[in-house]
Amino acid sequence: MVEELLFRILFVAIWTIFAGVRIYYRRKSTKPTDTGDAPQIKKKQKLGWMLLVLSIGILGMIISIIVYLLMPLWILWFPIPLPSLVRWIGVILGFCTVPFLVWIHRTLGRFWAADLEIKEDHTLMTSGPYSRIRHPMYTVFILFTLSALLIASNLFVTVFAIIVILMFYPISIKEEEMMLDQFGDEYRDYIQRTGRFLPSLRQVKISDSDQGIENSK
Ligand code: SAH
Repeated sequence: MVEELLFRILFVAIWTIFAGVRIYYRRKSTKPTDTGDAPQIKKKQKLGWMLLVLSIGILGMIISIIVYLLMPLWILWFPIPLPSLVRWIGVILGFCTVPFLVWIHRTLGRFWAADLEIKEDHTLMTSGPYSRIRHPMYTVFILFTLSALLIASNLFVTVFAIIVILMFYPISIKEEEMMLDQFGDEYRDYIQRTGRFLPSLRQVKISDSDQGIENSK
């Protein structure tokens, strides 16, 4: 029972830090620029049903987590008996997502948006976390949600967490349609050398073959 309490405390710590980082960068990205203007939005893409399902998933997760945290017997009602080690892996995973979230926000800067948007002077970021993965922020969200699922090891949290995780796939497709429309061939090339949620090995292969061409010259 002491370990269960520890999991709950660590759970709250991870969520608090993650939410703190998120709120900080959210404020920063919507702040007016040096010239005094607020960032101008050029295009906006509606997420429609995807946003609805994602919101239901997130809300369901939050409610089940609050119940999980406040009701000592909750874990005994709908448990998924994961081994302690797996739950500790969830704790480590949760903490590890935080520096990546900071790195991604710092790279994306004011081009970040809660919705799918193209700003007036939008440029395509292809460095840092974006050099090998097209949606590193969604990868971080997926891992963060997975960490919640593992730590809570509870049926309700798991069901809502799976809904949230699955939704990032159609959202990423919609986002890529918008990016292709905006950046055309530049984004098409970018797709070729990157992976959606995991690093692509193709970039290595391309540079290897370039190397081969260089050597044969
Ligand atoms: N899907 C990305 C970004 C999420 S934030 C990720 O998971 O990291 C959503 C906003 O980021 C969108 O409005 C889009 O305009 C912007 N965006 C996505 N990829 C980008 C890139 N490579 N360079 C610049 N802006 C990008």
